[in-house]
Amino acid sequence: MLHKVEGIVIHTTDYGETNKIVTLYTKELGKVGVMARGAKKPRSKLSAGSQFLTYGLYLFTKGKGLGTLQQADPIDPFRYIKADIEKMAYASYIVDVIHKLSDKDVHFAAIYQWVYHLLKYMDEGLDPQVLTFIYEIKMLPVLGIEAEVDRCVRCGQAEEGVAFSVSQGGILCQRCHSSDPNALPLSSTSAKLLRMFKHIQVDRIGKIALKEETKQQIKTVIDAYYEAYSGLNLKTKRFIDQLQGLDPFKET
Ligand SMILES: [Zn+2]
Repeated sequence: MLHKVEGIVIHTTDYGETNKIVTLYTKELGKVGVMARGAKKPRSKLSAGSQFLTYGLYLFTKGKGLGTLQQADPIDPFRYIKADIEKMAYASYIVDVIHKLSDKDVHFAAIYQWVYHLLKYMDEGLDPQVLTFIYEIKMLPVLGIEAEVDRCVRCGQAEEGVAFSVSQGGILCQRCHSSDPNALPLSSTSAKLLRMFKHIQVDRIGKIALKEETKQQIKTVIDAYYEAYSGLNLKTKRFIDQLQGLDPFKET
């Protein structure tokens, strides 16, 4: 059967000397693996469209098993992401999360829109770390580990959060703060941002400028929560941390 889809290349593996197996994350069908025959030859008509992190239109045939890519028309190769090692690290992590999930879990039109828009904003120059926070918060229900960021996870009051409890799975208000001695501190700005990231419409993100300490606080919370519950242990995520550790301009 012939399929015409809009998609993003989220993974590629060489297969033999000239072929590639390409994993597409598509608007219409979710995650699809296709064989791109001859795509490693420079003059192949599949070469440009089958590069990692390319957004395009794809035509493939599929029966049982792996499909065969017939046509690949790149629309946006995200060239500014690819020119910047830090952006590339964040973008690789974003698509890696999708690649690692089961096909059943990632076939949602909403997730496709998130990934597409976040990569587009990253390419346009918005802060890749903030975009990744938004993605990580939005992915929590998909991963089956939603956190409570709208109200205090313990008493249910919609008061300002002052800390985040990984063990209780959400923010804590001033009164409930002491219920978890290991709760991670949150400024009122950070608590509000966690809520905003959950509810923001991804096709309407503007520039979000955050102080380094705010970013660090949010990163600590998200990383601890993912480490405790997500079951993901991705090299692409560790690579971001390694890059940050190498940044001579970054305060520690
Ligand atoms: Zn409370």
